[in-house]
Amino acid sequence: MDVLIVGSGPAGSMYARTIGELTPHARILMVEAGPSVPGIRGDHTQNMTDDERSAVQLLTQGPDAGLQRDAALIDIAEGLDPSLEFRQTILPGLHFVDSQPALRPGDVGLPAASMSTGVGGMGIHWGASTPRPHQSERIPFIPRAEMDAALLHAEDVLGVTKQTPPGRGLPGRIYAAMAAEFDGPGLTPVGFMPNAIRWEGGRLTFSGTGTILGDIEKTVPGFELRPETLCRRVLVDDDGVAVGAQLRDLSSGEVYTVRAARVIVCADGLRTPQVLFASGIRPDALGHYLNEHYQMASFVQLSDEFDPARFDRDPTRLGNVLIPFSDARPMQGGVMALAGSPYALPLGADAAASRLGIVAWYAAKDIRFEDAVVFSDTETDHYGMPKMTIQYSRTERDLMTIAQMRENSLRSAALIGTLNEQPTLAAGGSSLHYQGTVRMGAFDDGNSVCDAQLKVWGIENLYLGGNGVIPTATAANPTLTMLALAWRAATEVATSLADEFSSAAHAAR
Ligand SMILES: Cc1cc2nc3c(=O)[nH]c(=O)nc-3n(C[C@H](O)[C@H](O)[C@H](O)COP(=O)(O)OP(=O)(O)OC[C@H]3O[C@@H](n4cnc5c(N)ncnc54)[C@H](O)[C@@H]3O)c2cc1C
Repeated sequence: MDVLIVGSGPAGSMYARTIGELTPHARILMVEAGPSVPGIRGDHTQNMTDDERSAVQLLTQGPDAGLQRDAALIDIAEGLDPSLEFRQTILPGLHFVDSQPALRPGDVGLPAASMSTGVGGMGIHWGASTPRPHQSERIPFIPRAEMDAALLHAEDVLGVTKQTPPGRGLPGRIYAAMAAEFDGPGLTPVGFMPNAIRWEGGRLTFSGTGTILGDIEKTVPGFELRPETLCRRVLVDDDGVAVGAQLRDLSSGEVYTVRAARVIVCADGLRTPQVLFASGIRPDALGHYLNEHYQMASFVQLSDEFDPARFDRDPTRLGNVLIPFSDARPMQGGVMALAGSPYALPLGADAAASRLGIVAWYAAKDIRFEDAVVFSDTETDHYGMPKMTIQYSRTERDLMTIAQMRENSLRSAALIGTLNEQPTLAAGGSSLHYQGTVRMGAFDDGNSVCDAQLKVWGIENLYLGGNGVIPTATAANPTLTMLALAWRAATEVATSLADEFSSAAHAAR
């Protein structure tokens, strides 16, 4: 095998696509712990009928597979403790890291932390918001032009639709209100949220993981996606070179080894460090610097001025107004009328046509070594991997950020109507954006796990991908950024493989 990729989500798929494009004769094996799901491989669940979506969601819930929780925002599945305050936050298609986490004194933990286990990872369920990082969200040791080119490439692959201000209709009116309030010197200008969603054949089509993989099965004959296959550990030889992995067929229980010239672990922000830990690769920073976005979302009853009935609706425009991250305001706001929402929300049939709006804010965490996912040497999870525990607390700066986020929620809501409820902080883990656990760094100084090309420090031929590599404090949804980083890394992997192929061909002549 030339390349072994662990995880079939967006990150692994960007690696596979890029390596396949540059070295079409490479033999690439992608293993995925979760099952295949019915329908087009990697298709987004929002592109499916309600029944199809529900069937797929039930399959990707890992240990909760088959547990009905379609009405997750309203009710709770049998078997989960209804007294848990975070019960509203488990989404269909996902499963908790730990449904009853024990917290250390003073910790807030990430009780709603959840994952998806199935072909396509979270990328068949995601919201498809693809903002670029701004100001200190950007990675300081990657040259600006290089990162911009990578972001542009990721946008192309995802088929991102951008809408430029001032916009028209109701979104244009909301944009004007937000820009008047939130634009200012030194602040990233208000605009519209870019989305990996496009208008196709008379309907909105969401880009899922399948969009990233493209038609790789046709163009790369040596590509194989092997579902229900768990990577138990990466194998590293005595010279510190990754040489393959130990895999487990989850349907038969068979354990076997594959050898590979490159191993790439893209098993999400929590399970990528888990695979490294299980492999005995335990740099000081592994699992540490964990951060996710503080989140506050509130429904607003739109005022007469913003009544959707007063505006012509252009269904080809999504119209989610974006108040981007700025250093002076380390958070990102999104404001939209639900009448303009492309999502199938489990809020009742009339919600989309009603006068409801939503203001949703994400804020950046004060990043610290102490916030971590830690792994057990003795206890295991549902898959037999080292059990995870999350140690997470808020600093004084976090409390100030949360207060500022509440204030901005109130400000943004007051501009368009009346809040249905006071803004409350979502349970930790709800953002689903787990970052920093295998962070990249410019130097091997103990504060990072991999280098700027996502190669693990001190181990040859072992690369990483996913939100865990992002080293900065961000509020922007991370998928676009991590895909850009995966593309850079995959390009390096493919280039080195191509060199090896041509040297081998030369030697054979
Ligand atoms: C409802 C929802 C809405 C979201 N909205 C947005 C949004 O609007 N914008 C945004 O930027 N992000 C959003 N996200 C987050 C986005 O989906 C993730 O950032 C993205 O999917 C991460 O990609 P990944 O490949 O790193 O991980 P994942 O997509 O999680 O894929 C990792 C895969 O690895 C597999 N795996 C784990 N361990 C192993 C192992 N040991 N062996 C084999 N396989 C393994 C898992 O089963 C999983 O399928 C959203 C997520 C959800 C669920």
